[in-house]
Amino acid sequence: MEHNSHLRYSGLATVRRSYMTEFIVECPKCRSAAFVTCDNPYSYCNGKLACANCSHVEHAESLIRYRVLIKKYCNNCGSTIDYTAPELKERINKINIKCPACSALQELQPRNEQYQIQYKSTSKVNDPIFSLPLWLQTEVKGNLLWAYNRRHLQDIKEYVESKLRERQTTRYTTMVERLPTFIKVAKNRSAILKVVERLINK
Ligand SMILES: [Zn+2]
Ligand SMILES: [Zn+2]
Repeated sequence: MEHNSHLRYSGLATVRRSYMTEFIVECPKCRSAAFVTCDNPYSYCNGKLACANCSHVEHAESLIRYRVLIKKYCNNCGSTIDYTAPELKERINKINIKCPACSALQELQPRNEQYQIQYKSTSKVNDPIFSLPLWLQTEVKGNLLWAYNRRHLQDIKEYVESKLRERQTTRYTTMVERLPTFIKVAKNRSAILKVVERLINK
């Protein structure tokens, strides 16, 4: 029986969601490491992107767009008025529309559909707010190893280093227990630790 306590993973039983308040991503302007932060891992509405290298700053609320729609019958001639304005930055409550059939001008109340735009990343792993590629990602033996931030990466490292992996909760919901198998299997341990070390120094 082994009693080498430093080899036992002693990290907290942390759910992955708890890491999701900070993400290191690739800056969309200068491609350096930038930070995406938010106060609440269950709501990203106050999310912020900040790059120390090029000073680029973006807020999640600036990603909100409105699709403004009207589908009504003309007050004057009864023809269908079908109108859509996509990707507006502000909600519109009233709009003056000319009937395409009789040209009567009328003030109408459109429907506003709110949605969020994101970056079009080609990476498989991105932050959930802006959808920018995670900075801490690398391929190892055909698999993708990634972490949201340095604390996340550190916990993965400590887990892989530990020889005794104790079941932390009865329901297998913690971050480390849900790591992909290729990270957990003993034969990959040294390869994983090598790439983790590379990411730590990235
Ligand atoms: Zn930048
Ligand atoms: Zn009309």
